Amino acid sequence: MIAVSKCLCGYNCKYNGENNLRDYLKKLEDNNEVLLICPEVFGGLPIPRIPFELKNGRAINKDGVDVTDKVIDGCNKALKLIKENNITKVILKENSPTCGVNYIYDGTFTHTKIKGCGLLTKMLKDENIKVYSDEEFYEEK
Ligand code: SF4
Repeated sequence: MIAVSKCLCGYNCKYNGENNLRDYLKKLEDNNEVLLICPEVFGGLPIPRIPFELKNGRAINKDGVDVTDKVIDGCNKALKLIKENNITKVILKENSPTCGVNYIYDGTFTHTKIKGCGLLTKMLKDENIKVYSDEEFYEEK
């Protein structure tokens, strides 16, 4: 079993109430091979929600509100589930401030991407759990 960002399997948990469906991941979910995780929702953030980006490691939303504690709480819940299910491979949504693997937005809300990773990704890497972005995993297959 692998863990996958829930929005990648077509669930409308994105900040704007939409999803990032990747058909090849949805097929895995249909075969019961996937643990779905959405750390932002696990942390109690609503759908839809005000988007946030990372600034100096903090999650700051477009209104200037710091939502780091909620996101970290959700990341901890996701990590706990991943460990409980002995999952060693996780596929996460690129560019997200929570799930991004290689790129995130720069904190200015101008759609500017920079190299970096989201808060959950960092946590998983610190635990030596393999993390791939949806784009990398697709290329691998
Ligand atoms: S937190 Fe991750 S799983 Fe949830 S909507 Fe954002 S990218 Fe998708």
